[in-house]
Amino acid sequence: MRSSEVGAAMLKHRRTALERVEKFVSATYFTDCNLRGRLYGDSCAPTSLSCFQTPLRIPYSEAVVQEFRPARVGDTFGPTWETCWFRVELSIPPAWAGQEVHFVWESDGEGMVWRDAQPVQGLTKEGEKTSYILTSSLKETEPHSLTLYVELACNGLFGAGKGSMIAPPDPDRKFTLSKAELVIFNRDVYELLVDLEILLDMAQLLGEENQRSFQALYAANQIVNVCDVKDPSTFPAARELAAAIFSQRNGESQHTIHAMGHCHIDSAWLWPYEETIRKCARSWVTVIRLMEHNPELTFACSQAQQFEWVRSWYPGLYAQIQDYVAKGQFIPVGGTWVEMDGNLPSGESMVRQFLQGQRFFQQQFGQICSEFWLPDTFGYSAQLPQLMCGCGIKRFLTQKLSWNLVNTFPHHTFFWEGIDGSRVLTHFPPGDSYGMHGRVEEMLKTVKNNRDKGRVNHSAVLFGFGDGGGGPTQNMLDRMKRMSDTDGLPRIQFSTPDHFFSVLEKESSQLCTWVGELFLELHNGTYTTQAQIKKGNRECERILHDVEVLSTLAVAQSGTFQYPASQLQQLWRLLLLNQFHDVLPGSCIQLVVRDALKYYAEIRRAGTRLQEEAVQSLCGELLQLKSGGAESTLVLNTLPWERTEVISRTEPDGTEALALVTAPSMGYAVVRESLLPPQPVTVIKQEDGSITMKNGLIAVCLDAMGRLTSLRLVNSERESVADGCRANQFALFDDVPLYWDAWDVMDYHLETRKPVTTLLKPLEITLAGGLRGSTSFSLRVGESSTLTQEIILDAMCPYICFKTQVDWKESHKFLKVEFPVQVRSTNATYEIQFGHLQRPTHWNTSWDWARFEVWAHKWMDLSEHGFGVAVLNDCKYGASAHRNILSLSLLRAPKSPDASADIAHHQFTYAVMPHQGSFQDAGVIQCAYNLNFPLHAVPASSAPSPAWSAFSLSSPAVVLETVKQAEDRPEAVVVRLYEAHGSTVVTWLQTSLPVKEAVLCDLLERPTAKGHLPLEQQGMKLSFTPFQVLSILLVLRQ
Ligand SMILES: [Zn+2]
Repeated sequence: MRSSEVGAAMLKHRRTALERVEKFVSATYFTDCNLRGRLYGDSCAPTSLSCFQTPLRIPYSEAVVQEFRPARVGDTFGPTWETCWFRVELSIPPAWAGQEVHFVWESDGEGMVWRDAQPVQGLTKEGEKTSYILTSSLKETEPHSLTLYVELACNGLFGAGKGSMIAPPDPDRKFTLSKAELVIFNRDVYELLVDLEILLDMAQLLGEENQRSFQALYAANQIVNVCDVKDPSTFPAARELAAAIFSQRNGESQHTIHAMGHCHIDSAWLWPYEETIRKCARSWVTVIRLMEHNPELTFACSQAQQFEWVRSWYPGLYAQIQDYVAKGQFIPVGGTWVEMDGNLPSGESMVRQFLQGQRFFQQQFGQICSEFWLPDTFGYSAQLPQLMCGCGIKRFLTQKLSWNLVNTFPHHTFFWEGIDGSRVLTHFPPGDSYGMHGRVEEMLKTVKNNRDKGRVNHSAVLFGFGDGGGGPTQNMLDRMKRMSDTDGLPRIQFSTPDHFFSVLEKESSQLCTWVGELFLELHNGTYTTQAQIKKGNRECERILHDVEVLSTLAVAQSGTFQYPASQLQQLWRLLLLNQFHDVLPGSCIQLVVRDALKYYAEIRRAGTRLQEEAVQSLCGELLQLKSGGAESTLVLNTLPWERTEVISRTEPDGTEALALVTAPSMGYAVVRESLLPPQPVTVIKQEDGSITMKNGLIAVCLDAMGRLTSLRLVNSERESVADGCRANQFALFDDVPLYWDAWDVMDYHLETRKPVTTLLKPLEITLAGGLRGSTSFSLRVGESSTLTQEIILDAMCPYICFKTQVDWKESHKFLKVEFPVQVRSTNATYEIQFGHLQRPTHWNTSWDWARFEVWAHKWMDLSEHGFGVAVLNDCKYGASAHRNILSLSLLRAPKSPDASADIAHHQFTYAVMPHQGSFQDAGVIQCAYNLNFPLHAVPASSAPSPAWSAFSLSSPAVVLETVKQAEDRPEAVVVRLYEAHGSTVVTWLQTSLPVKEAVLCDLLERPTAKGHLPLEQQGMKLSFTPFQVLSILLVLRQ
């Protein structure tokens, strides 16, 4: 070999070759002579820049007529949450003819470019979007002078946290305009930079053992050799070297990645709801711009609420979105109103998430979604598969279980089976992210990490900046285009959720099944944080339930009463919005909490009014009072079983008094005289200061601190409290997580338990007995909080109630109440949406132990054969059962992202219910409903009137939860029932409503084939399998 040929085949040092290429594309080093330094050509400043600032988020039309004052690059604006509008006059130099010209804008605040009164481009430096492309090749005929407006929000992509991302927002933060200019963009330099980035990544990430790694490295090195950065005519040869590598194809067995653009936008989190509206517009207008240049780009977009926001605030943009939806590129997914919390919303709330969402998508885009999309929620209820299936969805995408702290979830593609046996095809993108950037590293991780290798050879990649919005970039697309079919890398195709799942369905024969909940082993504090939001949710679920029941009955009875369909839709949408996965979990900033509580107040206010109107129509004649005050009480029961309970009512003389009354199943009765209880309540103070309370069913002994030293079933003398223990014991724990303050309670908090034993006011009798006995006491909790509790026992009531008030002023503490019970069982039962499930009470395996803090709805129960104890609650969700101790989680005190979280006055009620037999037979489920849905008592006339029941059921296993008017069908009623015991059962549904026709329907209220139900003497005969939810459309005679 002669020396002149040496250049063609030099010995190459791997590290220096790699670093040589890195320096050639570096944004930090050698930009005076490298390729990156040539990305932009000449630049020029705007001819004028002026601004106007406002604390409000105002429309464009209002902004542009304001008085603008001169502004300069380098100026700062603020404080946080204000908005600065800029008028930018631009003049492109004629000498730039033929060049690609960008308007470049850099700021730490999020921006929106407006042109000709329309939003045209979102600009977010953190989202790698700083350019608005004015022309791809300047022509003489194009206008060279133009005026743009930039709407600059004084918040970043992740709000305005001080220090760390989740720190509470800094109210005084200033935002800087650091660049505003016209610039020539050298597209050929950019393309070569993308080539080199991919080659470099292949060289580095495929590793030294890999042949392709060296091919990529040598190609990159050769590109640097042939490329003269000052001479663009050398670029094509360089690009051909890269293309030669990229076009070397894969074998047939290679994994296929389905890439879909995505932009996770939290409907509120570190910024308020109002800012999210703008985030949607900024993110989505950018997607539309990308679609104009990239017909292959698909974009999966969830949350009907966000579409609705853009529809009403940005109609021009919305029209463009509709066009791209019609083209199949902009793809509505998810089917829900918002991406809600997956644990805490009630069964009916979850149905409404889908009902409101799917109906919106159907109305706006002509079809419902076929995938449930919830990538970022903190666990998934085991009832979801059935609810999805009932709403036209058999496919589910998430990835959040990749955040599990303890156990690695064993699948990425599998069938998920719910408590009733419904199955949905489920995919977790193996890259463990919903916001990828289209990098080589992510593609390799997707293949390597896939836990279902050999079963399925396709997976999804969702790319685009997320959480705070942002979405895909051109750069991400260009990376993946190069990787579409390159030997050594997975195949990448731009795909749609529908196409992707269709492929999975074809390959599904080898897939495994996961039964039961998808429990997230992290963020378990979110069942408790922001107690007032939790309470608002539970209360408003109850209010809307009652309004719907009473309004439906009023319509059926009167014919003239108008069902408040549009008001109810509006109130439901507020409730559903607050169920968003950073609001109901309590992981949001204070501004969001304020909005959420405002919405709950609105639902309470409007709900109370609607309820009164319905009762007025339903029972108007009974309510007409003679002068002289109420002589009777109208008692309304919105639950589907007869109830005999102690209520408080107004006496003829205007005073409040207790009465024992019976109300029929889902109906009403006029009550004059209180019933006489078979056994009155007795409350007796013992010499040692303890107090006993009895009602013939249960007998309780309380110490001076309100703790139960004994809780017995009178019939059997069976003791509930574990030997030597005290139930209703408050305990305080240190609660300092590792990072996610509002989200996480860590395992080690259990090691810091301190019983609350500082007595402020010892137990004393407040009601001596008869229909009701009660006692009260106060404790000091922690350093400066106080707790006052009233312990109430009613005649004929099988549970004892703890009405609790707490002035909570703690910091990083966790308050629970504990019930050590005399029950031995390896499993405890917890209520979930339309059913219940069991979780272990031991910590045998890491999967058991990782569930040291779990969630439940209205009740939890620990039972052995023949006996058990249940704990009921009216607004709590956090719970645990370890060994024989049932704990209810009451209050937390995290400081981020809301420094004032939960520092307030709290009121809540829980109850303990010992029972013989199973919890099903003992009526625990019904009692928990009763605690949550108090009877309504309204002053009434004394005219005699028979009790009236609208619906009743022959089996206690079936709960009729929902009664509402059918959507868009005023002549029809929808009733929703579920099997609550976990049994196969046949029941009769009886109704006094004038039903003409009964048809089974799905959760979207679409009649099912063969769903016709014969109307018989006893009513409608219904068959249920365990935990089955049935909806029936009842057409009424007019
Ligand atoms: Zn999120």
